[in-house]
Amino acid sequence: MTTVIDRLNRPLKKKPSGGTAETPRPVLRERGQHEVFCGLTSIIWLHRKMQDAFFLIVGSRTCAHLMQSAAGVMIFAEPRFATAIIGERDLAGMADVNDELDKIVARLLERRPDIKMLVLVGSCPSEVIKLDLSRAAQRLNAEHHNNCRVMAYSGSGIETTFTQGEDTFLTALIHDLPAAAAASPQSLLVVGTLGDVIEDQFARIFQGFGIEHFSFLPSRLSSSLPAVGSNTSFILAQPYANDAAKALIGRGAKQIAAPFPLGEQGTTSWLSAIAERFNVGTARFAATTDPGRARARQAVAHSRKDLQGRKVFLFPDSQMEPSLARFLANEAGADILEVGTPYLHKNHVSGELACLPETILVSEGQHVDNQIDRARAAKPDLIVCGMGLANPFEVEGFTTKWSIEFVFTPIQGYEQAGDLAELFARPLRRRALLKVEA
Ligand code: SF4
Repeated sequence: MTTVIDRLNRPLKKKPSGGTAETPRPVLRERGQHEVFCGLTSIIWLHRKMQDAFFLIVGSRTCAHLMQSAAGVMIFAEPRFATAIIGERDLAGMADVNDELDKIVARLLERRPDIKMLVLVGSCPSEVIKLDLSRAAQRLNAEHHNNCRVMAYSGSGIETTFTQGEDTFLTALIHDLPAAAAASPQSLLVVGTLGDVIEDQFARIFQGFGIEHFSFLPSRLSSSLPAVGSNTSFILAQPYANDAAKALIGRGAKQIAAPFPLGEQGTTSWLSAIAERFNVGTARFAATTDPGRARARQAVAHSRKDLQGRKVFLFPDSQMEPSLARFLANEAGADILEVGTPYLHKNHVSGELACLPETILVSEGQHVDNQIDRARAAKPDLIVCGMGLANPFEVEGFTTKWSIEFVFTPIQGYEQAGDLAELFARPLRRRALLKVEA
């Protein structure tokens, strides 16, 4: 257990004199017990996004129980994920785990010919017994390549936290993407899972900008994976796609740096970074985005009266916290006390943090007891945290918001800015309505 104060280099900012300076922002780094999901949970939104993919976890009963609990009612809808449970015979070395896996995969693909991409997902148990799922994927690919592509990545709790599972999946997927020809036209790639409705809205905006070639990763079907090369410009739609960004750069693609598209301001900054790369003129940009901006501002104003001046404390969960804090502070007028994140990727979020006042504590990692003590002492009006902490805080008289909802609810883009503000405002309104006393 260690606690380290580090300094985050903030991006170059204009000094009042007109010069530039790097101002380091202190970051509290904590290690200790942490209350977060493992990367397996990302399968819950990934399997809904890629409609011809099946995610086969190679793990234990614990992993199966986690998925059943986290997926909630989805498990009754014949979801496209399952767990191949490593039994005692496998652990004792009495069975060849690879043979068992091959049999399970053959049975599964026979029963479900609609599966066009099978994803083997590593877990803590498969890692501990050193089961090489990448090799298994290669072997199974050779066997089933006529009907189905097989790939592997790790969602284990040893290696990944919650949304990082998507990052490891995307990174594995990027290594498999077809190469774009050197003479291919300039294209835009948006990286990180977005709701279909949001993708459709952004697609209309890109068309309004006159961008002809654009795609989203992950794609809705494994058969429509985009090609990537030196003429690809990519932009992250989610802050946790760190290794995916590195993998794309490794494939020759060029990153467009921008804040994340949360709220009216975040979405406008994100779109204007794209517009700049694709030489979209100011008039065209304004004509395409002005109506959406006006609608977003109006929708956020509805919740602003509930959020203005309210003190908010964010526990680490999905890595979206710096962007959520920026939205809350700048667009909803909230007063942020602490913004915690499981990992702080300086390159991706320093733009977000630069928009926040210096007084806000930024923390990376977690020592949950210390953080609970800080939250109690700060007496926030709203605590954004996981389900494991929410009800105990409510019992103590605090108002809470389950952080997982920001991952499952469509919140990016202009049309969702009002819904995003509403997610924060609703628990405050409910407490006021119920007149709950501390
Ligand atoms: S992968 Fe590890 S942390 Fe996640 S459910 Fe399985 S055993 Fe638990």
